[in-house]
Amino acid sequence: MAATTTNVPGPGAEAATPSPPGARVSSELPVESGADPVARVLIVDDHPANLLALEGILAPLGQQCVRATSGAEALKRLLEDEYAVILMDVQMPGLDGLQTARIVRERAKTREVPIIFLTAISRDAAHVSRGYDVGAVDYLVKPLDPEILRSKVQVFVDLWQAKKRLERDEAVIRRRERAFLELQNVLRFQRVTDVMPCAVLGSEPDGSVYWCNAVYQRYTGLDVDAARGHGFIDAIDPRDRDRVVRARAAAISMRRPFEAEVRLVSREGTSRWFLLRAVPEREADDRVVGFIETLTDIHELRAQREDLAEFKATLDATIDSVLVIEADLRIAYANHGAVAQLGWSRDELLAMRIDEVEPGASEGELRSRIAPLRAGTSAASTYRTVRRTRSGEEVPVEVILQFVRTGATGRLVSVARDIRERLRAEEELRRANEAKDAFIAAASHELRTPLAAAKAQAQLAMRRLRSEAEHTHAGKALRTITGQIDRMTKLVDDLLDVSRVQIGRLSLELAELDLAALVNEVAERIQVLSDRHELRLSTVQGEVRLLGDRGRLDQVITNLLSNAIRYSPEGGPIDVELVVDDEWVDLVVRDRGIGIPPEEQRQIFEAFGRAHGSRYGGLGLGLTICHGIVARHGGEIAVESTGVPGEGSTFRVRLRRVVLSPPA
Ligand code: ADP
Repeated sequence: MAATTTNVPGPGAEAATPSPPGARVSSELPVESGADPVARVLIVDDHPANLLALEGILAPLGQQCVRATSGAEALKRLLEDEYAVILMDVQMPGLDGLQTARIVRERAKTREVPIIFLTAISRDAAHVSRGYDVGAVDYLVKPLDPEILRSKVQVFVDLWQAKKRLERDEAVIRRRERAFLELQNVLRFQRVTDVMPCAVLGSEPDGSVYWCNAVYQRYTGLDVDAARGHGFIDAIDPRDRDRVVRARAAAISMRRPFEAEVRLVSREGTSRWFLLRAVPEREADDRVVGFIETLTDIHELRAQREDLAEFKATLDATIDSVLVIEADLRIAYANHGAVAQLGWSRDELLAMRIDEVEPGASEGELRSRIAPLRAGTSAASTYRTVRRTRSGEEVPVEVILQFVRTGATGRLVSVARDIRERLRAEEELRRANEAKDAFIAAASHELRTPLAAAKAQAQLAMRRLRSEAEHTHAGKALRTITGQIDRMTKLVDDLLDVSRVQIGRLSLELAELDLAALVNEVAERIQVLSDRHELRLSTVQGEVRLLGDRGRLDQVITNLLSNAIRYSPEGGPIDVELVVDDEWVDLVVRDRGIGIPPEEQRQIFEAFGRAHGSRYGGLGLGLTICHGIVARHGGEIAVESTGVPGEGSTFRVRLRRVVLSPPA
């Protein structure tokens, strides 16, 4: 419908908005004027003089007389207009009065029109009854009594006018009812559109708004009149205008609805996203004369959609395979990495269960993995397994499985990385390590024999020299050579020991021994090496017996005490303590030296691990051997240190005691 025909102001105070489309309602209900309509009286006679006389007689009634000079003419007049009564001469040439009356009665339109016959001749009963048969309501004989004729005609005029009044009143009532219903519809339409959660408006093809609901007004801040004169396009964010203008033009030429996501500018000047749906309104000739448009706020929805898209894009960009698994093991989500890793399409994966691609992920297996995750005692479960691809290939993967509390049953998120490369690298590393260990072991072994021979020869030379010139230059040189050979022998022995520890071939010669005595012995031996350090022993009274390899334990104590001296360059006390309980004995060595930073403490027990670089000499092998020896004894070794120079370090070796049964 055209806006020009529908843009009628809404009714009174109820109309908070311009009238909605389809409102053809005025605020006033229709009122009719009370004057009676003029009745027509058809006078039929073949003698013009008679017609003239009749007109004269009826003139005082103030109604309209219409003449007909024959039956045929009378029938013609009756088709043209509505008559209150017919005065019909009976004797006429051609169709006489009776024949004419019969036809009048036969026609639907004229069936009800009363006929009064006028006759000059027959008053006999047969004639009269023929007249009544064809539908006469009265029968007057000429010469006519004007009074009687007038009063008879007046009766039918009154009757006709009463009927007309009735019809008119009914029409008025019907019109009022219709107007009332239309008004109700308009109000209902307005209320409905005002409570709708979206903006609704009617616009003309050029975009001017001719009607809009309260939501639109509130959002744009345009009141009724402003909204009306305002172009809908102006309310759209400039960035989206061209798009909407093009969509409207296309919709007009195609006579089709259109949809677009657009930003609408609010009264505050900010923009929000709306879904615009426009339905064209068409005239009977199919021309588009405007649009009904709804605008639904999708701002949050769009933001969520964008977040989700970004999230999915991010997941797709990761090289790992990410699968979301339902409680019944069905795969609910698969990222691009999973598709690439497994060779199945995303849709295929979504129709599969995790155990179809991860043969190890049986229901029982998964349940035992999930239990601690579900209980919250563990955040994730990391494991290695194989994934089976579409072509049947088995790919080794490392999986991080997490339980996410969503929905009724929760879900699993499985992130799997292809570790073929890593396994290859690990294998290479293992082989290289083995080769290195084998080399060190072989080299140390081969070095021992020449070293032993060199030492023997040096000692022999010393003995020979001693008698002649012990303090000569040659004597000093020989002592230096012997000292260096000793150092080298110790180094080679350490290397050999480390190799044994690493391949688990450190053998022990176990015998019962007294640890307290051993500690004393070693301490005495070490004390002579330095007079700037004071070894303070606080061992328990009596013996501390245990089962161990005396030589190896000597090696451990020697290493701890030598380290305590080496890493306390300022000198100072070194406390050596044995703490005993029924089951364990702890050897505690505490110095006041340079300490070990906490982050370095782990690596000092590894081969070649040094916390202070090469500053203090040493290769970083001693503690590795100590650790190996203590571990072979079923004990533990640990260090405590703040790393602050002067606060020193405390090494603690814990060994299992042998509790001897009392002698019988
Ligand atoms: P090294 O022959 O290098 O002393 P160790 O295995 O005995 O080899 O010790 C490893 C490293 O631990 C040393 O290089 C040193 O950095 C650190 N370390 C060992 N004992 C002490 C200590 N008592 N105080 C400070 N640092 C120590």
